[in-house]
This record gives sequence, structure tokens and C-alpha cells, in this order.
Amino acid sequence: MITAELREQLTAIVGNENYEDSKVSKLVYSYDATPQFQAMPDAVISPRDTEEISQIVRLCNEHQIPLVPRGSGTNLCAGTCPTEGGIVLLFKHLQSILEIDEANLTVTVQPGVITLDMIHAVEAKGLFYPPDPSSMKISTIGGNINENSGGLRGLKYGVTRDYVLGLEVVLPNGEIMRTGGKLAKDVAGYDFTRLLVGAEGTLGIITEATLKLVPMPPAKKTMLALYEDMEAAAESVSNIIRNQIIPTTLEFLDRPTLQVVEDYAQIGLPTDVEAVLLIEQDGPLEIVEEDIQKIAEICEQQQAISVKVAESEAEADGLRTARRSALSALARLHPTTILEDATVPRSEIATMVKAINEIAEKHHLQICTFGHAGDGNLHPTCLTDGRNKDEMDRVEQAFEEIFIKAVELGGTITGEHGVGMMKAPYLHLKLGEAGIEAMYAVKQALDPNNIMNPGKVFAKDTRKRVVVNK
Ligand SMILES: Cc1cc2nc3c(=O)[nH]c(=O)nc-3n(C[C@H](O)[C@H](O)[C@H](O)COP(=O)(O)OP(=O)(O)OC[C@H]3O[C@@H](n4cnc5c(N)ncnc54)[C@H](O)[C@@H]3O)c2cc1C
Repeated sequence: MITAELREQLTAIVGNENYEDSKVSKLVYSYDATPQFQAMPDAVISPRDTEEISQIVRLCNEHQIPLVPRGSGTNLCAGTCPTEGGIVLLFKHLQSILEIDEANLTVTVQPGVITLDMIHAVEAKGLFYPPDPSSMKISTIGGNINENSGGLRGLKYGVTRDYVLGLEVVLPNGEIMRTGGKLAKDVAGYDFTRLLVGAEGTLGIITEATLKLVPMPPAKKTMLALYEDMEAAAESVSNIIRNQIIPTTLEFLDRPTLQVVEDYAQIGLPTDVEAVLLIEQDGPLEIVEEDIQKIAEICEQQQAISVKVAESEAEADGLRTARRSALSALARLHPTTILEDATVPRSEIATMVKAINEIAEKHHLQICTFGHAGDGNLHPTCLTDGRNKDEMDRVEQAFEEIFIKAVELGGTITGEHGVGMMKAPYLHLKLGEAGIEAMYAVKQALDPNNIMNPGKVFAKDTRKRVVVNK
């Protein structure tokens, strides 16, 4: 609880205008993009710099007040829901791009910078920042780092983790620490940068990040392959990679998703096929053309009923936008949309999609699936109604079965959305007892009072002991 005295100390740090505890502001920050989770914070604070954050953290640590760092709140794992009350910390005053270093190919930003704004800023200098979560128009770099977000270009270029070179972080005791930096080679001590990426705000507050940039690829081509058979589409994915071609993008949409996306985006996508692959390659023009030609041949050998290369950048952009809008399009249909990101080795995609459909049928649920076929990261998306208790029980059961199946196939419970509160009960499936204990030891060492985003990643009392046949 925030006492009157503590409130006074906190407002003395950030100013009255940056301390909100009206009912309205608390309600606004009581939930994020994850359906079915809501809890009121005690206050919402917007610090103006690292020093203020450090002072706030010291006070919270002393008084054992929970602190929930929040970017744009677009996470899908209830990662910013203040489930134990306390303070929601906003980064609206930390939105500057501090430096684009063309000699070292780095960009240094504050955590509240919007991902796409940063991408546009570096592209204006002919540079490229590849991680492109579909939410990039609104998500922040701080959020991307803490969820280790991926995107459509992840197959070839990797995820956020692969671009974080250095961080400034306020630790749970209020100390300010710097990790890594602009160096390409640096093995001095433990790799805290890697530890903090994907930590979901449980180990500290990121106040600055230095990210790696790469040269902008000179050419890019986009194509669409249509299939009447899911397995043929999945086999094409494996064959493309078996032929040692790594496309920039290799995305997949199933028939129900396709129908909804076309209805929403109206760009002339076919709606009578079982699966579509959206494929992109970038690089020097000659190589791109050669790869696209080979990929088209592979898709045709795998019984693609149509293979079409986009004729203009506008057409290609339409296809990408259609894929990026899949979640928004699906979300229009029912009151509640629950999107998951069970991930399997790419060779198991067809098996996994089949299993998802069987599980949906068994529990009488509507589950559409799309995702990053190239890296096996699928998004089974359940269209449901949170007010229907019986249906929600079946949804929970279905997703548990989906996670178990993914792990049985050598996959994981989350490929890019993080654990948060939502998937904490399933983390055990992937990490096992020893893994959870090791993680907990790290958490205890850095945050013994458990003030940083409590209730996330570690399940309180629901660690499940589900047997998985690997
Ligand atoms: C329509 C839609 C599409 C999406 N598409 C993708 C996608 O393609 N790929 C993907 O990976 N995800 C996707 N997501 C999920 C989400 O957008 C990402 O996880 C994103 O990185 C979250 O950014 P955010 O700024 O909203 O962070 P938030 O949701 O505010 O926070 C995410 C986590 O980071 C922590 N955090 C935030 N800032 C800091 C900080 N400065 N220091 C410490 N901790 C911090 C929070 O406590 C929380 O645990 C999508 C979500 C939506 C709604």
C-alpha cells in the first residue's frame, strides 16, 4: 500500500503532474492486450530520467511496493497487468533516439521509443533494423527487449535478442548498471545483456539500449504460394530450407484465417484454399531473383496450385500488411480473442496444425492458425467469449493440450510473446524443475523483495506437473 508519506516522497521525485492515482488512470492501466486479466494498480508514475527511476526503485524496494514497467501494453501474456497492485511505471518521457552511429552501425535509444519510429529513423540513413513485430506501429523498444519479440523477418535475421548490444538498467535495489556496449567483441564478465533480454521486467528497468544495425539490403521480392493441402505447404517450408535457401519471411495462414483477413483487408487474397505461404527474400538483386525462382520451383513441385510474385512494392506491401493484420482481423469476430504462440521445429508444422484442429474440434472451439512457418512459431487463435464460463474452461483445457503437444514435438510454450502471468503455469513443461529453480535463484539474488513485476514468469501456486512424452 502507498501511504500518504510515501506518496509525498514519490511526487517529490517526479512532480505532481507525473503521479496519477485517480480512479480513471488506475483503470486505464489495469489491463493490457491480454484478454481476461485485470487488476488495479495503486498509482501510475511517469519518471523523466534514469535518476528518477533509480530513486523510485529505491523507495519501492525499501517499502516492498510492486513495480510494473509498461511500454505500450501490447503484450499478450498479461505481462503488464498489475496483478499485485503497486506502481505502473510509464516511459512517456523517455522516447528519444539518442544516437545513430553510422561508423559503428548502432542506434542508442530510450525505452519508450516506438519500434516503427526507430526503424524509419535508421532507414532514413540507409540502415536496417530487422526485428519487426506486427505490433511495431505501437510497441516500444523497452517492451520488445523485455519480451524478446520476433517478427516476419525473424527467419533470416533473428529476433530482438540478436540486435541488443548494450543496456542501461536500474536494478531492483536502485543501482544503475551498464551492460555491453558498441563493441562487436566483449567477453568481460557474465553476459547480463542476454539475461535481461526477455526478462519481462522481472529483473530491472531498462532505461537505455544500444542496438545493432545492418546495411539495408538492396533488393527484395515477395511471393504468395497457394495450397489445397496443409501438408504440402508444410513440406514446401522444409524443402526450401533443405535446399539451403533462407528466406527473409516464410509466413503461413490457414483457410479460416485467410477468409477473415481478406474480409478485413480486401486485397484480393484467395479464400478457397487450405493454406497460403507468404514468402520474401532480400539481398543483392541477382541472388534474390535466383532464390525466388528456386523457391517457386520448390513450391510447384510440392503441389502449390498457384505461385505468384508481387509485381510492385505496393502489391508486396499489401500482402505483408494482410499478414500483419491477421490478429486484428480475427479479433473483430467474437468478443474475446485469445492468441497463443506454441512453437515447434519447422519439420513438425503439419503435425502441429493437425493436432490444433483436432483439439479445437474435441472441445467444440473455433481456433484459426497462422504464424511464422519458417521458424515453426504458430499462432493458434481462439475466437471465443470471455463471459461464457463453460466455454472459457474448454479454451483453457484446449490450450493446455496444445502446449503439451508442442513440447512433445520438441517445441516450446512460447516462441515470442513471453510467459508473463498467462503462461507461468506452463513454464515447467518446457524448463523442468531444475530450470525453474535456477531461474528463481537468479531472481532471488537480484530482487530478494520481489518488487519487480511480481506474479509474472514464476507461477505462484500452480506449477503443473504434467508428464510430457518427449
Ligand atoms: C496486434 C498485435 C500484434 C503483435 N505481434 C507481435 C509479433 O509479431 N511478434 C511479437 O513478438 N509480439 C507481437 N505482439 C506482442 C507485443 O506487441 C510484443 O510483446 C511487444 O514487444 C510489447 O511491446 P510493448 O511496448 O507493448 O510492451 P509492454 O506490453 O508494455 O511490456 C512487455 C513486457 O516488457 C516489460 N517492459 C516494458 N518496458 C520495460 C522497460 N523499459 N524495462 C523493463 N521492462 C519493461 C513489461 O513489464 C512487460 O513484461 C503483438 C501484439 C499485438 C496486440
